[in-house]
Amino acid sequence: MVNANDTKLKSWVDVPKDSDFPIQNLPFGIFKTNYLHPVAGVAIGNHVLDLVYLHENGFLDGLGLPYGIFNQNELNGFLALGRKKGGEVRQRISELLRHDHDELKSNFVAREMALVHRNEVQMQLPVRISNYTDFYSSEEHATNVGSMFREPKNTLLPSWKHLPVGYHGRASSIVVSGTPIHRPKAQIKPADSELPVFCPTQKLDFELEVAFITCSNTLLGSRISAKDAEDHIFGLVLFNDWSARDIQQWESVPLGPLLGKNFGSTMSPWIVTLDALEPFRVKGPEHFPQVLPYLLVEGKKNFDLTLQVFIQSGLSVPTTVSRTNFKYMYWNINQQLAHHTVNGCNVQVGDLYASGTISGPSPGSYGSLLEISWNGQRPLTMQDGSHRTFLEDGDTVIMKGHAERDGVRIGFGECSGEILPST
Ligand code: CA
Repeated sequence: MVNANDTKLKSWVDVPKDSDFPIQNLPFGIFKTNYLHPVAGVAIGNHVLDLVYLHENGFLDGLGLPYGIFNQNELNGFLALGRKKGGEVRQRISELLRHDHDELKSNFVAREMALVHRNEVQMQLPVRISNYTDFYSSEEHATNVGSMFREPKNTLLPSWKHLPVGYHGRASSIVVSGTPIHRPKAQIKPADSELPVFCPTQKLDFELEVAFITCSNTLLGSRISAKDAEDHIFGLVLFNDWSARDIQQWESVPLGPLLGKNFGSTMSPWIVTLDALEPFRVKGPEHFPQVLPYLLVEGKKNFDLTLQVFIQSGLSVPTTVSRTNFKYMYWNINQQLAHHTVNGCNVQVGDLYASGTISGPSPGSYGSLLEISWNGQRPLTMQDGSHRTFLEDGDTVIMKGHAERDGVRIGFGECSGEILPST
């Protein structure tokens, strides 16, 4: 069988240089057009391949796929078939798109019907998100935040190096890239006031994260080992965990954030499979002190993904505000899922587990404005000459991510959202 990750593979579909979606990627998503209700598709170059058309016209025969599996407005049913079945479908699509494979290439009616230009599609949330958990797994981020708000010897709290710290977030307010977010209003307590006030947040921030999506339902009381965790993970997306720092600061003690986070989170529309990311595995940071046995992993469990954040004010040229890498994460996805289930918590198809803000070691690699502006003390200068400590109305935050080797780029597309005034 041809390796679908082989960098020498070429598609008969035109793929522009530097496209996020060469034949080696083939991420899954849900799209709709002006004349088509939401259905499942795969990105290739500047096009989307309509999986309903391929399935209904016999191109996916022999894979044992249930009738109508792609004719749905969410990928949950497809994900529930498991990681292995997803890999088989990706392998078959790779074959159908290969420049030396004639089956679809030479069928001009079918290829006309199956390919839709990405200009004509509106991407939807790819999954109905069952549950959302947010971790806090970047040592650099946790150290930065700790040193801002605590004395130097307590920058990391005692449990941080023993377990992947996390909390349960809100699934209902997760939206797909391109959806605007209104500046939230809630209680904040100004430093010069005795009492809290109800007003729009003055410290609206982004958090650069990568999230994984699960593809199995486990039983309450069972656990997933770190060794088996990736069997339950379909792929990754980019994730912006919008945060209102002043709301968060007033409400968070002792139980953690609520309204400072649950007004909206944004995810990129394409699920990039772990299969496509296989060539980009790297070893993560050494764990010291040694972790408990259920958190031990062997081999390369981190991924070398370049991540970037831009802020665009109105129609001005976007300003790059961060460039970092997913490989810096102290806790990896295997450890996160093993920890999440070690007490018997069940996992569901379509759960989303976010990494926590991803910051690198240097100031240009911080994953939030809280760190970049050091809680407002160091304003950053935008391309248009204006300054930012936190986000202003009309700002659009754009996140991008990709892995690359031999000139082949496995990308995520965009995770973007514009800030609208409070309502
Ligand atoms: Ca977060």
